[in-house]
Amino acid sequence: MSRVYNFSAGPSMLPESVLNQAAEQMLDYEGTGQSVLEMSHRSKAYEPIIYGALDLFREVLSVPDNYKIIFCQGGASTQFAAIPLNFMNGSGKADYVLSGSFATKAYKEACKYGDVKVVGSSKEQNFSCIPELDKANFTPDADYFYICQNNTIYGTRFTKLPDTGNVPLIADVSSCFLSEPMDVSKYGVVYGGAQKNVAPAGLTVVIVREDLLGNARPYTPTMLDYKVLADNDSMYNTPPCYSIYMCKLVLEWIKSIGGLEALKIRNEKKAGILYDYIDNSKMFSNPVKKSDRSMMNVTFVTDSEELNAKFVKEAAEAGFVNIKGHRSVGGMRASIYNAMPVEGVEKLVDFMAEFEKNN
Ligand SMILES: *Cc1c(COP(=O)(O)O)cnc(C)c1O
Repeated sequence: MSRVYNFSAGPSMLPESVLNQAAEQMLDYEGTGQSVLEMSHRSKAYEPIIYGALDLFREVLSVPDNYKIIFCQGGASTQFAAIPLNFMNGSGKADYVLSGSFATKAYKEACKYGDVKVVGSSKEQNFSCIPELDKANFTPDADYFYICQNNTIYGTRFTKLPDTGNVPLIADVSSCFLSEPMDVSKYGVVYGGAQKNVAPAGLTVVIVREDLLGNARPYTPTMLDYKVLADNDSMYNTPPCYSIYMCKLVLEWIKSIGGLEALKIRNEKKAGILYDYIDNSKMFSNPVKKSDRSMMNVTFVTDSEELNAKFVKEAAEAGFVNIKGHRSVGGMRASIYNAMPVEGVEKLVDFMAEFEKNN
């Protein structure tokens, strides 16, 4: 068996030990004689899986007691609508920062529901940086303030959070979830699709401060009402059972390697190796403002489309797959989420150096 280094932006690599454990438990989960894939979510056997995953999520991310953790479906994109439906419930106003395409999609969705203001945009800069924000432009009576914390496609991230005062900050953390410790108490809501850093596709995790729940608009679809989901322990209907099980295994893995503090050191090391190489390369460059560089998604280009394509092709042949940039930006992107080992990045850099020498 030979496994590739998968630099996909999502769905992405999972830790090999987690995959092995899932494989061992595939036919007979802990003596139940069934696979988790076959289990009723209401069964005695499944209960410790979902409650275990919820508890571990709280423990690993140090989620305060006054926050609910909700496992839902629909991906991050469904929450683009669920967020205004649940939280745009006072003044009907919200502030959005346009730092990339997912932020823009979220903004467009929110515009269907209320009075939405763009308080910063880096579109003119091709989203190569996080927009400068001026607090004087913020809406004082906004129901919430929205950011996309790590911009998966462009390889940028917020390194400091906007000061929104009493206005709850809502952040899409799909591509930086569990990559480092995070002070959840600074947010009203954080959420993300699991398929980047947390689990396979199918699971979306929403963490909500309790006092923000319970005021969804009356016409909110029941399945998008976070209060309903929270009150039913994320089992109002059938949850994505297997993804939740995988999420639990990933959380156990994170604990076993020293938690988010340890992961942060590892992730910084990986990003450092790659950015250092790119910064010293004569062929490759990173188009992002240095202070806004993502730790998870590293974009890079050569100065020729032809060379980019050649690199992507030869990299794949050498076992470094999914390294092509998003179709909207081109070039290359290496997503180096939690499960990417340090040696995957070291080997990629060796390969890049070899490619540079030969071309
Ligand atoms: C991948 C991604 C999304 C879209 O997620 P889906 O689960 O496919 O809807 C949204 N936001 C960010 C930051 C992402 O990385």
